[in-house]
Amino acid sequence: MNLKSSSRRAFLQSAAGGVIVSASLTSPDTDAAAASEAIRVANPVSGDVLQTQGMLSADRRQLIEQQRAIPVAGNTDVLVCGGGPAGIAAAIAAARAGASVQLIEVAGCLGGVWTAGLLTKILDAENKSGVMDELLTAFASRGSEVARDSRGTVYDPEIAKLVLEELCVDAGVKIRLHTRLVGAVTDSNNRVVAVLTESKSGREAWLADRFVDCSGDGDLAAHAGCRFDVGVGSDCECQPMSMLALLTGIDAEAVRPYIRETAASAKPLLLKLMEDNGITPSYRGPTLRHLHSGIYSIMTNHEYGVSAFDADAITQATIRARREIHEIVNGLRSLGGIWKDIAVVATAEQLGVREGRRIRGRYHITAQDLAKGLKHPESVCQAKFPIDVHALNQDGNKEVSREFKKGGLKPYDIPYPALIAADVDGLLMAGRCISGDFIAHSSYRVTGNSVPMGEAAGRAAAISVKQHVMPHELKWDEIKG
Ligand SMILES: Cc1cc2nc3c(=O)[nH]c(=O)nc-3n(C[C@H](O)[C@H](O)[C@H](O)COP(=O)(O)OP(=O)(O)OC[C@H]3O[C@@H](n4cnc5c(N)ncnc54)[C@H](O)[C@@H]3O)c2cc1C
Repeated sequence: MNLKSSSRRAFLQSAAGGVIVSASLTSPDTDAAAASEAIRVANPVSGDVLQTQGMLSADRRQLIEQQRAIPVAGNTDVLVCGGGPAGIAAAIAAARAGASVQLIEVAGCLGGVWTAGLLTKILDAENKSGVMDELLTAFASRGSEVARDSRGTVYDPEIAKLVLEELCVDAGVKIRLHTRLVGAVTDSNNRVVAVLTESKSGREAWLADRFVDCSGDGDLAAHAGCRFDVGVGSDCECQPMSMLALLTGIDAEAVRPYIRETAASAKPLLLKLMEDNGITPSYRGPTLRHLHSGIYSIMTNHEYGVSAFDADAITQATIRARREIHEIVNGLRSLGGIWKDIAVVATAEQLGVREGRRIRGRYHITAQDLAKGLKHPESVCQAKFPIDVHALNQDGNKEVSREFKKGGLKPYDIPYPALIAADVDGLLMAGRCISGDFIAHSSYRVTGNSVPMGEAAGRAAAISVKQHVMPHELKWDEIKG
């Protein structure tokens, strides 16, 4: 590395949880220009890499990585982290509002829990317009009879992958898959100015005027130094994770009583069938859905007490969950009759995470807001989905934790300020990482709400760039159009 980097180090100040960079980073001085000349970018064709220089600490518990220059891979008006239901809506809306948009996604497809998680059901979407309505129409018209009958709310994850990619490409969104956000940089005005990623292309920096955190887990905001909450109580107890799977080898008419869309009795009936035959699923509400022709989806697994921020624990849970799904399907097959040919087509590549960080915003949605049916002048959308806290542990063998439902719920508004980070400027959130308490999150987290949140955050990001104001200075009337 160029020795000039030592003087450059003078304006890089270390700070807990990240690096604070002076505003001069975005207006290069001669030092920065000289440093940029020294940046070697790995050639993606030859498979070349930039080697890491480091020093092991004396106690061998840490590797001190040498300071290095990171190539700037992109510079857009808006950068969206996470291409799940919230992220694709944010990216599409920002691009349609005239912004240049970079979308960064760690998985190999767009859609998040919808696709990599094999979800197959969109909840709380009936009363939504805009991008949500557009997606339901596309999932229905390009999907199976089941998708059409459910107005697109029961969808095929493969069709969803394709539709989301097409919509983003058509809107002009620059998509980067297989890339994980690993850091964020704020300037001396406490404004987010850059993020860092890791991928096969190495470590890269991305500049933007506005950022939208749609990572579900609030990764971008946490790296930017925002305050956040996790789970409930001092142990940060979270809802369980679940792995979903696609199945085949059963006949739709024969298994109709067990299909979730047929009747409320379907889940208890399937649980009884399993238990009567010595199968004890970790999720007490096994949910079977018919997607199209010979394809079904199943949710029958709960992974309790796993932190969304512990890669080792997630790895163990993933292995456990996949094994359980295969064991349950093998168990059903051994019953013979209508189950004799049942088989697993695919298990989800991503273990479904219900809860990560809830980032502190400029409004905090609470259980009291749900109880009174909050009406807010800056309403992004109205949420109606019930309080839905899955059992937090295996005590009592329950499907859900009913004690959190006591306050009740009336349809309530999701206020725009709950999408604006409280602690830094230029950062919005959408999806399950917005600002709210444990109980409120259990309701607003579903995807029929994540999409309108993303749409609002994306439009706000784009319009705030155009008007040279921060997202919190925008009037809601200007965003909603
Ligand atoms: C098992 C399960 C069942 C559910 N059932 C339903 C249901 O039936 N219907 C319903 O509507 N909702 C359901 N939900 C809730 C719903 O799926 C989520 O709350 C919803 O997906 C939130 O959308 P999101 O875009 O905020 O997050 P996600 O869907 O989690 O998307 C986040 C995206 O960000 C990406 N990402 C994360 N971190 C990074 C990073 N550091 N860098 C780059 N990319 C990153 C992820 O890969 C992902 O694509 C369920 C959730 C789970 C887990």
